[in-house]
Amino acid sequence: MAAPDRPLRRANWQAVACDLCGASRPDVLGQREIIVRGRTCDHQMVFVDVACGSCGFVQALERPDEAFLMDYYRDAHIGHRGGELHFDAASRLSAVAARVPGGGRIIEIGANDGAFCAELSKAGYDAFGFDPVEADEAAGVEKGFLEAGVASVTPRSADAVIAYYVLEHVIDAGAWLRSALALLKDGGVLILEVPNYTTHPQDSLNVEHLLHFTPETLRELLEQHGLDILPDQPTPTVAYGQAIAARLTDRALAECPRPASDACLTGGPKRLAAAKAAYAEAMADRARRQAAAESAAKLARDADPSGTASVFIWGANEYAERAAPLLAQAFSSVQVVDKSASKIGAPFPGLAVPIAHPDVAADVSARIFLLCSPNWNAQIAAEISAAGWNALAVIDAVAGERL
Ligand SMILES: [Zn+2]
Repeated sequence: MAAPDRPLRRANWQAVACDLCGASRPDVLGQREIIVRGRTCDHQMVFVDVACGSCGFVQALERPDEAFLMDYYRDAHIGHRGGELHFDAASRLSAVAARVPGGGRIIEIGANDGAFCAELSKAGYDAFGFDPVEADEAAGVEKGFLEAGVASVTPRSADAVIAYYVLEHVIDAGAWLRSALALLKDGGVLILEVPNYTTHPQDSLNVEHLLHFTPETLRELLEQHGLDILPDQPTPTVAYGQAIAARLTDRALAECPRPASDACLTGGPKRLAAAKAAYAEAMADRARRQAAAESAAKLARDADPSGTASVFIWGANEYAERAAPLLAQAFSSVQVVDKSASKIGAPFPGLAVPIAHPDVAADVSARIFLLCSPNWNAQIAAEISAAGWNALAVIDAVAGERL
């Protein structure tokens, strides 16, 4: 997939102090260079992953500037517009309904195409959102980062501010939180979901995430900003996530942020050790996935050394992103197919087609299938078999073996 003539945009990086305790004692966990293929150019980011030597919070040592991030999200993000809902709306709604009065005003930060704002409106809430990329006035979403759009919102007017999988992306967690809290009424509720670094470090250490929260560091960040953590916490709505709900208090706006707590600092060495172990686990997992992609590509080449078979990579996800460039070197026809048209976006330009696309069912002489779904590969293999397509090989790209 690499195209040497495509422009490469490099992030400008600025070193920052720890978001949680303010210390500048980074303990380097590792470095990841990532090049994300966008619609108009490739975006290069080099993450220096560190754990704070004082409190153990895991974060990117340096952060790109906002101009780079805005361009990056506009160019490289896969929108969900018009597709099926990409989240569990019922779970999110019940978490909100248990904590926010009926009919209350809710502001969603990172509202994507406004799909959840629309669900909240249907449930009787006065819902409104911000998103850096999407803008859909009909669904109540305004364009712009929170900081850019907040001027249009009456301060302290919201019963709740909600943000799903946003805080891990921000350049400055404290500034982001202060902006969010300024929107809340007295006693208003903040509901957040972020990846859980403790249970799923490999998902937290994903492309473009700058902050990696354990349940402890997430709670402490909110407490430092004067929020009271609510006694009953929401259930996260995705497997790799964690959810937290907290209430605005008088001191949140008066003395924000407060110094890191003793518990935060005395727990540092233990957390640092845990952060290192989780990081090593995540990197080992990453290496296993890359090795599986390489095995799968080799199996495909072995099945057709001439490279004339049509290769279909089934599932537009991280396994496909690893396997596609390897296969494109050996085969003239490589396509990524997926049931969800909304997932077929920037990473696969010119490669991806929906499963309903005529090319998939066309009468080509020989096909090789690479299956990329950790949970559904057996079922997909059965569907391919039932369709009667001439398959030279059906390969599990998650396990790196032939089926
Ligand atoms: Zn720290």
